[in-house]
Amino acid sequence: MYTEDDLLPLSALQHLIFCERQCALIHIEQAWAENLFTAEGRIMHERVHEEGSESRGDIRIKRGAPLRSLRLGLIGKADVIEFHRQADGSWQPFPVEYKRGKPKKDDSDRVQLCAQALCLEEMLKVFVPDGALFYGKTRRRLDFALDGTLRKLTEETAMRLHELIDSGRTPKPVYAKKCDSCSLVGVCLPKTIGKRGSVQRYLLGAMREP
Ligand code: SF4
Repeated sequence: MYTEDDLLPLSALQHLIFCERQCALIHIEQAWAENLFTAEGRIMHERVHEEGSESRGDIRIKRGAPLRSLRLGLIGKADVIEFHRQADGSWQPFPVEYKRGKPKKDDSDRVQLCAQALCLEEMLKVFVPDGALFYGKTRRRLDFALDGTLRKLTEETAMRLHELIDSGRTPKPVYAKKCDSCSLVGVCLPKTIGKRGSVQRYLLGAMREP
């Protein structure tokens, strides 16, 4: 179990899955640069994070609710939590996370959603079997079962996040296609620093040659 002082932002999970160096630059070195993608995402989240609640039939909707898990060492806010009325009169929480773009190839969005569900389970002492991701670009909502594989991946990602932040070390850049859409490319300089590493490796290799 973590303590209150150990808690890390839940949103850092998606930074970690996207790129460990990006995660370290943001959460260890406090670097942040906004580009069109992050600005649109921020505005979207600011809108849905405005606290409030409403009822629609058998669904109650809570916006901007605080989340926390001492087991995972995470803290954050839910975009939306729906509470679905069950046949026995109880209310089943169902987290909904809003994303600016379209579904990604990596697991970052699903892991973030699952982490929200795990926070709710710990806070409300209930099982949260499903949740949904809403994508602004496609205007589509995708419902997901939060299965054992996703839960394990989420727990491992949270553990890795704590290891990275505790180490205080920012990994070196490795240039990849995703760097072109990274808001921190101008701070990270993956091509320049990556090449410098290659020259160092080249020189080390050359010096070892007989
Ligand atoms: S530019 Fe590339 S290596 Fe650097 S932080 Fe972004 S994704 Fe990671």
